[in-house]
Amino acid sequence: MAELQIYEKSSPGRRAVRYPQPDVPLTPLPAGLIRESLPLPELGELEVVRHFTRLSQLNHSINTGFYPLGSCTMKYNPLINEEVARLPGFAGLHPMQPPETTQGALMLMFYLQEFLAEIAGFAGVTLQPAAGAQGELTGVMIIRKYHHKNGQGHRNVILVPDSAHGTNPATSAMTNYKVVEIRSDGRGNIDLDSLRSNLNENVAGLMLTNPNTLGLFEEHVVEVIEAVHGVGGLVYGDGANMNALLGIAKPGELGFDILHYNLHKTFTTPHGGGGPGSGPVGVAKHLVDYLPGPVVDIIEEGDDEEPPVFGLVTPKYSIGRVKAFHGQFAMMVRAFTYIMMHGDQGLREVSQHAVLNANYLMHGLEDVYTVAFERTCMHEFVLEGRWADAPDVHALDVAKRLMDFGFHPPTNYFPLIVKEALMIEPTETETVETLDAFIAAMRQIAEEAHSNPDILHDAPHTTPMRRMDEVSAARNLVLCCMPPREEPV
Ligand SMILES: *Cc1c(COP(=O)(O)O)cnc(C)c1O
Repeated sequence: MAELQIYEKSSPGRRAVRYPQPDVPLTPLPAGLIRESLPLPELGELEVVRHFTRLSQLNHSINTGFYPLGSCTMKYNPLINEEVARLPGFAGLHPMQPPETTQGALMLMFYLQEFLAEIAGFAGVTLQPAAGAQGELTGVMIIRKYHHKNGQGHRNVILVPDSAHGTNPATSAMTNYKVVEIRSDGRGNIDLDSLRSNLNENVAGLMLTNPNTLGLFEEHVVEVIEAVHGVGGLVYGDGANMNALLGIAKPGELGFDILHYNLHKTFTTPHGGGGPGSGPVGVAKHLVDYLPGPVVDIIEEGDDEEPPVFGLVTPKYSIGRVKAFHGQFAMMVRAFTYIMMHGDQGLREVSQHAVLNANYLMHGLEDVYTVAFERTCMHEFVLEGRWADAPDVHALDVAKRLMDFGFHPPTNYFPLIVKEALMIEPTETETVETLDAFIAAMRQIAEEAHSNPDILHDAPHTTPMRRMDEVSAARNLVLCCMPPREEPV
């Protein structure tokens, strides 16, 4: 039986709070400021708690099940992150407090900037951007300002590979650049001929994801970067896939000029419905002066007795602020905690295990699914959710059927260059038993695709919500919970 929704449970006069009698004289609000009726549901506290707890249990989450959503790095977020983020000295801060009262927070931000710079081989980092996509926007604005400052304002093209995440071309277009798409070759790398034929003095930069969204390390990455630098362009690294590289390769040393980090992917800050993102940006030496301001710096060196004094500094040619106050501070605390907990060797092991787990899954499935590019993968890989001898079955059916086994579906229909793509990223935090259970489920689904395709078409069968009509869901969006409409009489 369907549960009653919150408006249907409403009963006039029920309340979850009781206000104390005012101890100051009542002042009537000016007429017109008060709405005569506001149709809010009226419930007691217990009913409200039950409603929201029940809703939360309808969701899949990393804390309830395996979540191999490719490119999103849905790894486990350690509980210690939450404890540290809730310490009153961090949680109780106000962003307008004067720096002499927030030295601990500034110190944490300073060292997080330093850690991220070290991890990816850069000279400076801003923590302001609120997500990877905003980091991209920040990076492309830095590219634009750098060229203008150097008398190269005519450069009006950003090159983007056809395997790129949609945010890359979107960001370039938002910044008023013309986007030119570069093809991939038969091994899933950037096609060097396609790249070379588009390189000229109008190129402002290239946006490159490495490992790319096929989960493949760009085999000619240094050559690609040198070619773009050769015509005076800059190279932006989409660092969403840093989970494959920690302690192993530094994008800055490969020649990238700029890169964003997704703290909510690589560095275990809550992701999706769980909290705000954070997308710091690292830059090479020649771009440090263009970072958004302010950044945290040491403004007075310490000595044996006194710690250094930290302050907020705006770089010389800064593109300006990209986010209010200091960015998502609580996420910085979580990422800092995660990095401190692991140390350099620990972070290297994170990436080693992420890559190992992805290859383990790929090898467990490659005889029953077509692997898009047969190479050793990095932290993720892409399968095709289709079979020549089961023409009615699509990646969407495989994804929906997986939910019956308690697994979140992989990313599907991305990257766009793989037909019926299923992009699988297990992350390092899963046990071999979970990986084996996932392989078994995927193998059963491949078998059902041939023997009983209807069970896939009708899936999911066991979830609180059955398969949605995705067209109506997109066309007739209902974005908020409204009281039931009264039928006209
Ligand atoms: C997630 C992702 C982004 C965008 O990052 P958000 O934090 O979601 O804005 C960009 N590129 C790739 C490859 C990604 O996986």
